[in-house]
Amino acid sequence: MIYQRVLLKLSGEALMGNLGYGIDPKVVADIAQDIAQVVQEKVEVAIVVGGGNIFRGVKASAAGMDRATADYVGMIATVMNAMTLQDALERINIPTRVQTAIAMQEVAEPYIRRRAIRHLELGRVVIFGAGSGNPFFTTDTTAALRAAEIDAQVIFKATKVDGVYDSDPVKNPDARLYKSLNYNHVLTEDLRVMDGTAIALCKENNIPIVVFNLAERGNIIRAIKGESIGTIIGG
Ligand code: UDP
Repeated sequence: MIYQRVLLKLSGEALMGNLGYGIDPKVVADIAQDIAQVVQEKVEVAIVVGGGNIFRGVKASAAGMDRATADYVGMIATVMNAMTLQDALERINIPTRVQTAIAMQEVAEPYIRRRAIRHLELGRVVIFGAGSGNPFFTTDTTAALRAAEIDAQVIFKATKVDGVYDSDPVKNPDARLYKSLNYNHVLTEDLRVMDGTAIALCKENNIPIVVFNLAERGNIIRAIKGESIGTIIGG
């Protein structure tokens, strides 16, 4: 295994599967199986989960809602996803803790960095819910922030396509997949892998990002074993 501690970023949409909204339990169960494979190899796994399958602050504010309020609703949506994923993992006997950046002590631990690290050392998966706790941010930026805080060696950014392309592969059949990219290229070409704040934070802290297709089962373990999948973004 080339990585011992990884941070997996799952968008809310990853849990939605082909549904138009919400959570597909079958998809969540499949993702849990993929994560379990990694945990069984004694790799420490932290997860930041998004909320776009339920609520997106930017979209709601475009429709007139106060932006900060909308973002708080979006953050709370991520907690639903975090708890659902925890349930799927624990059903297959993977010990998991949810920590939230907005206190909800009846359902999850508050985010405490040192406690999160301790859970990881004990082999527990840690799912970070409620984003960074701050409006005007994204869960991609949260992923970069938490990865830096817990000293993760890499961020695995799950997507619906095979990696980063020079144009949209859904619209353009000739789109070319990048095997590797540097942070500056992603920023200057506005490649929209993750938002600029997230990329800048990864660059500053030298955290590589592997962008890969989550729909291909077993991809996470392949990447952890050092197989070349998707696109790697680095210095
Ligand atoms: N959000 C926020 N601050 C954060 C993280 C998330 O305000 O630190 C809000 C924001 O409204 C966002 C929503 O939570 O639209 C859901 O997160 P995101 O869109 O990043 O989820 P994803 O696209 O990964 O599903």
